[in-house]
Amino acid sequence: MKTAIVTGAASGIGRGYALALVEKGFYVLVTDINGPGAEHVAAELNAMGPGKAEALRVDVTDVDAVAAAVHRVKDEHGRLDMIFNNAGMGVLGAVEELTVAHWRKANEVMIMGVVHGVQPAYKIMVEQGYGHIVNTASSAGLVPFAFMGPYDMAKHAVVGLTLSLRGEAAAHGIKVTCVCPGPVNTNIVRNVKDAIGATTEADIAVTAYDRVQPYLHLIPEFIIASPEVLGRKVLRAALRDRAFVLLPGYMRPLWWLQRLAPTALVALGTAFSRVAKVARPSIAERWEQRDAGDREDLAPIEAK
Ligand code: NAD
Repeated sequence: MKTAIVTGAASGIGRGYALALVEKGFYVLVTDINGPGAEHVAAELNAMGPGKAEALRVDVTDVDAVAAAVHRVKDEHGRLDMIFNNAGMGVLGAVEELTVAHWRKANEVMIMGVVHGVQPAYKIMVEQGYGHIVNTASSAGLVPFAFMGPYDMAKHAVVGLTLSLRGEAAAHGIKVTCVCPGPVNTNIVRNVKDAIGATTEADIAVTAYDRVQPYLHLIPEFIIASPEVLGRKVLRAALRDRAFVLLPGYMRPLWWLQRLAPTALVALGTAFSRVAKVARPSIAERWEQRDAGDREDLAPIEAK
């Protein structure tokens, strides 16, 4: 049986990868910092088959834990076919409100977290003479936008390390794929408080997201992808040895535009930033008044 390990697989895109892999008959080690969430996904996948899944709590910032998980798959199953370095979080916001700790967090989870998976897996794959590394970057790793500094930084790094590795890995029979999704209907916004702390902005984002989330599945797949469909498409593209997977499809022309006129979207970011500078204080003030009961229409809905 072919084997794979997925990080950040208790939710969203990582769960989508694990689902697609089990559908294809793989054994999958479902890892996440959220242990019970990983257990839940593994149980769901085992009920589905034909592949198999096991769960393991792994924090990708812990170099030894990630290496142990990777070696566990190789030692127990005799092979490591694929690794999906996917765990991530929305570390973003206005730079004047961020601290160095936010940039470190983006680095530790989304850059070093990927490196922690790549290093041990690549060594095993070089010895085997085969294997496939799939790293989840983002369209933000190709097209930077204002207010997303730490996230953009991390995802650009993932694109760089992934393409660099692809260049040298082929000589060892190893495939490497860089996934750059645009908007995908996952819990990434709900988890934003874990990423940046309980700020007013995070509170507004989570509350607004909770309101629109029940309707997001009505938006067509080609505008906002679902993690399940995305997972299947990414696996199909990876098995065809694609260097890049950009989904939904409009991300590709956006990337072309970025390469053609790299400062065009910066100008858009500036316009957005000017509007935000004017609007943010009054939005924040209204939000805080909400606690005093003055703005019941903005009262947060309990997260499900
Ligand atoms: P999600 O919040 O639904 O899932 C992320 C998972 O990563 C969660 O289960 C979380 O517990 C886990 N995680 C967070 N920190 C971790 C750590 N230190 N160790 C192990 N697991 C950890 O979000 P998602 O949208 O599925 O995000 C998956 C990846 O896709 C991320 O790298 C994200 O940056 C990227 N991405 C998402 C989108 C989108 O629109 N949702 C777009 C482009 C790229």
